[in-house]
Amino acid sequence: MSELVKTGRVYLVGAGPGALGLITLRAEQLIRQADVLVYDYLCNPEILRWVRPGSEIVYAGKSGSVQRLTQDKINLLLIEHARAGKQVVRLKGGDPYVFGRGGEEAQNLARAGIPFEVVPGITSAIAAPAYAGIPLTHRDFASTVTFVTGHEDPAKPDSTIDWPQLAQLRGTKIFLMGVKRLREIADRLMTEGADPAMPVALVRWGTTARQESLEGTLGTIADLVEKRGFKAPAIIIVGDVVKLRSELNWYEALPLWGQRVVVTRTRQQASGLTERLAQLGADVLEIPTIRIVPLSLGDVQQKTLKVFSQHFDWVVFTSPNAVDLFFSEFFKVTPDLRDLGSVKIAAVGSATAKKLSDLHLRIDLQPDIFTTEKLAEVLIGRMASSERICLPRGRLADAELTNRLRTGGGVVEEWVLYDTQPEQEDPTGVRARYVQEGAHWIMFTSSSTVENWHALNLQSVPDAPMPKIISMGPVTSATLKKLGYEIAAQAPASTLDSLVETICRLIAK
Ligand code: SAH
Repeated sequence: MSELVKTGRVYLVGAGPGALGLITLRAEQLIRQADVLVYDYLCNPEILRWVRPGSEIVYAGKSGSVQRLTQDKINLLLIEHARAGKQVVRLKGGDPYVFGRGGEEAQNLARAGIPFEVVPGITSAIAAPAYAGIPLTHRDFASTVTFVTGHEDPAKPDSTIDWPQLAQLRGTKIFLMGVKRLREIADRLMTEGADPAMPVALVRWGTTARQESLEGTLGTIADLVEKRGFKAPAIIIVGDVVKLRSELNWYEALPLWGQRVVVTRTRQQASGLTERLAQLGADVLEIPTIRIVPLSLGDVQQKTLKVFSQHFDWVVFTSPNAVDLFFSEFFKVTPDLRDLGSVKIAAVGSATAKKLSDLHLRIDLQPDIFTTEKLAEVLIGRMASSERICLPRGRLADAELTNRLRTGGGVVEEWVLYDTQPEQEDPTGVRARYVQEGAHWIMFTSSSTVENWHALNLQSVPDAPMPKIISMGPVTSATLKKLGYEIAAQAPASTLDSLVETICRLIAK
């Protein structure tokens, strides 16, 4: 490797405004490769999941006025790691060069002779207004945009901001870091001749599911903010474009807007449900309760795998995990999918079916109602007596399906492919958020998630909302009842879509 390739490098990377999907492809790629990640308060913590195991993660603050690491320390840290040959990602909220001192960090690197790259990001200054229904320019309302720091005291005589000129500018003005000094900012603009009736909007935690906005005028906004206890971080938009909000407020109009929903699944599985809910505007707290630990098959089972269809007439998959782990074991003993032979395949649930069709396997039997009872009933109806059935599953799966199939004349062999264990880590701080803020809903997709959630024993602070429970199927509901939980609704079918429809129905009521 040449010297140039081997040396460390610092990437000053924009994390985007908050919504995970608004980060750039280049940023994601660099985060996945980084040896060291130094990140800020305003970065979406979900990003931390992309960091390679073994990489170092440094939180550089700041939350409110508490700065965890001083700017000097951050600069030194970046330089030291780069000199040690590391790939260092310095992740900053929004765009690294829009306020937030990215320019100074780059200067320090340049002066120290450290190679660096800048990855621009979508700044909150444009994204938060867009998610609050406010275009920054519009032919009828504004032809200029000015980005202003709200950090400076407008009363300061040596202010670097030309307030008289700013007040005279007719276009849109965007203030960052301005919530604390909003009253002084509004007063100063009016003193310099701005119209007290000029519309103003504030957007807090823009583009995230915690987004909140507030509308007023230069004359009223400071009182409104005080009354509502509206807090940073927020973008302040001053200008006639704010009027367009009544027509263009698409994000806050989504059906699950303002609903905080806990999703309890393993980390690998959660994203499907989370995506659907987030798409509808929900604030999803994805709290992993269980972790899948693959278990290897024994010698005898491995030998059987090689000649699978001589041993079995059916293989029945009851979860996407079972499909994944079955085929991972299968491909350990043979590189050829055809060795599966002519065995017939049954699947319960559309996620399981999807996994199989991704492998280009046709499913011979899938009940229209996604429950194990229905699966057993349909399968028994279809098979001749004494057909041999392989049932790959988790260690804790209940025996009901096996029992039903045996009663119906099947010769069932259970293959235990994985164990589920309680998830102990909280790298994104999502559990802490649940404790602080509670949730409106919680969704359980299996008995083991219920049991593990119960075992976590997470209690939110007393005035936080208590979540209502939605369960994915009768087995999950039975477990909930056994543990003393009250169920608000059970999804009519055991699918993610059915769960999502259920919550939408309950909210629309
Ligand atoms: N480089 C960042 C800005 C850093 S300054 C960017 O380009 O977005 C910090 C200020 O950014 C905060 O005080 C707040 O005014 C604003 N900000 C950052 N993220 C925000 C968000 N999601 N919603 C509203 N304001 C945000």
